Amino acid sequence: MNEIKKEIIEVGKRLWQRGYVAANDGNISVKISDSKFLTTATGVSKGFMDESDVVLVDDKGNLLEGMKKASSELPMHLEIYKKRDDVLAVVHSHPPTATGFAAAGIEMDKGILPEVILTLGNVKLTPYGTTGTDELARIVAEGISKNNGLLLQNHGAVTVGTSLMQAYYRMETLEHFANITLVTRILGRQSVLGQEEIAKLFAKTGSKAPEFSDKSSGEKSEKFMLSRDDLTNIIYDIIKQINNQEDL
Ligand SMILES: [Zn+2]
Repeated sequence: MNEIKKEIIEVGKRLWQRGYVAANDGNISVKISDSKFLTTATGVSKGFMDESDVVLVDDKGNLLEGMKKASSELPMHLEIYKKRDDVLAVVHSHPPTATGFAAAGIEMDKGILPEVILTLGNVKLTPYGTTGTDELARIVAEGISKNNGLLLQNHGAVTVGTSLMQAYYRMETLEHFANITLVTRILGRQSVLGQEEIAKLFAKTGSKAPEFSDKSSGEKSEKFMLSRDDLTNIIYDIIKQINNQEDL
């Protein structure tokens, strides 16, 4: 358990160094057994933790070992473990670009990069839920039932894994993907992989491909081309209609 505590401290440091958390944001947990979980304490900077900032709790969130109170987002972590018995670690942070998408209410659910599709699945955006409540815990656990990364509306991101390092690296991948998605939106185009291509990716792994929308996103209105003559005719018709109305 001491080794896992050290790993939690290390991951906290990396989250802070990469700017994924500010002040006391974020929380980390690791499943030790069905009824024992190590988690970060509430009110501590993830960049400067020592072993007293990691506490042991049971599956109801009761403190088993440690002098500090467990993270206020612990219900969210416990709900995820309940929903996904393959998950052994959960990382929650507020990486700026991914959180920007979450605050803008924009999903990153397009199949753009093969590695991201294989690692995270389809990154969905959950509806908003109040921090630290059972409501948020339920929403997140539901959202992450099929994927390994999730955006929390107006809040941040959650990733899961079969080890703490895997959950952490998925957070890096999620933020990296958010940056790349942002660039495609700035450039005004997204070349999206079709469901057939995505199915081919998963053919080797033996697991089922997640469903993706094959429509490009970003453009609120459809673009179309119009010749100068067409435009002149449309304007001419409109003026004619206005004139006719005035005649009445
Ligand atoms: Zn948070």
